[in-house]
Amino acid sequence: MSVWKLSVGTAGAIGIRKLKTDALPTTAYIMLGEKCTRNCAFCAQARESTAAAKFLSRVAWEETSQDVSIEHLAAAYKTNKIQRACLQIVNRPDSLPEVQKAVEALVKAQVPVVVSGYITSVAEAKKLFDLGVDRIGLAMDVATPKLFEKIKGGSWQQRWELLTSCAAAFPGKMTTHLIVGLGETEEEMWQLIKECYARNITVGLFAFTPLPGTAMGNKVQPNIGSYRRLQIAVGLLKRAFSSDVVICRDGKITGFKVQNVAEVLADGEAFRTTGCHNCNRPFYNERPGQVLYNYPRALSAREVEKAFAESEVITC
Ligand code: SF4
Repeated sequence: MSVWKLSVGTAGAIGIRKLKTDALPTTAYIMLGEKCTRNCAFCAQARESTAAAKFLSRVAWEETSQDVSIEHLAAAYKTNKIQRACLQIVNRPDSLPEVQKAVEALVKAQVPVVVSGYITSVAEAKKLFDLGVDRIGLAMDVATPKLFEKIKGGSWQQRWELLTSCAAAFPGKMTTHLIVGLGETEEEMWQLIKECYARNITVGLFAFTPLPGTAMGNKVQPNIGSYRRLQIAVGLLKRAFSSDVVICRDGKITGFKVQNVAEVLADGEAFRTTGCHNCNRPFYNERPGQVLYNYPRALSAREVEKAFAESEVITC
């Protein structure tokens, strides 16, 4: 019997367990595998991490049989409780057959599926798309080659070439994850975001979250002002403003050449979780009741005002 790991929020959203929460996930998150062959310094599943195996980011995952998961996922999709399933693949040499099996089961149940974290070539991406995968997520995570080498190990350039080749081969079908607060400047992160948008690569922005048991467990989360400024910059790109409206100086975003940026982005969408459509990843980066880097739901007018105040934004 195949066993899947569902995030606790997912188990709540699809009715496998009772859950009291401020926001349920709109995408179902399923982790396949455990203990990665890689050693990313921020990740609970890294080879040398001593964090409990049931964690990925802040989120705990619980084991459920594939059959029970599929039954609940299909019903939850039909009733609009979730919009898709996202398979989060822990990198292991033997993961391909398991991934294929999971994809086939979800496709058969008519649940749209994203595979996040598993591919090493355009040919592998094609194989997954041929199986019926809706989108593929290939995380860059780190903004610069130097930091990538230090934090994830391996070549940033190689990963970037793979991501951009896949984006060219499968237009509009690729997503990447970028983690803010790993030592990059705002400007470096902004440069990479722009490059992704220019290639029609969807960006899911994360705030670095220190986890006990990981190599970066004693580091701090990114400055909220910095995160908000990046969110505003992305929000403007999404509204079809040119990337030239973002003013950077000495590695920092210092302003936006947009009249009344707070009015343009008054609906607060810019401060919500980004990534594949309808992926809200509740509390991946934050504890309930604390500052929400990514709002998993619509913001109140007061929250929008607060987010702009946090950004210390200067408009021209
Ligand atoms: S943005 Fe969400 S749905 Fe898309 S790959 Fe990332 S976690 Fe999965």
